[in-house]
Amino acid sequence: MSQYQTLKLDHQPSRFQAITACKCPQCREGKMFKYPFFRVDKFDQMHNNCPVCNLRYEVEPGFWYGAMFVSYGFSILILAVLGVVLYWFFNDPPIMGYIIPITVISLVSVPFNFRISRSVFLHLFGFVKYKPEIVVNE
Ligand SMILES: [Zn+2]
Repeated sequence: MSQYQTLKLDHQPSRFQAITACKCPQCREGKMFKYPFFRVDKFDQMHNNCPVCNLRYEVEPGFWYGAMFVSYGFSILILAVLGVVLYWFFNDPPIMGYIIPITVISLVSVPFNFRISRSVFLHLFGFVKYKPEIVVNE
């Protein structure tokens, strides 16, 4: 009993807040990634375990392969929305008017897409229960 401590949170973040902030699905406090997303040289570096509740983020071997499908979905969404925006606001530009902006936006959004995809996949398909009063090792 003495080796555990109960973490009491003043507020309970919603699942949506936890996903968008890339927080742990179990405690919704610990960060999933080591560095902020604008550190483009290290945007992909994750903690192996939650710094707050010690949950192992890669819940099974190869778990992150599933996040690629979420990432693919976000990429298609960006492509579709940007295509429609270009069509309507630039009056159906020539083909390079689509290819160049979509390529640039897709590349620029890689750090964001990578992180949000892993966060969405872990929260929705990791089958980790939210425990507001989580027990942490001291
Ligand atoms: Zn946690």
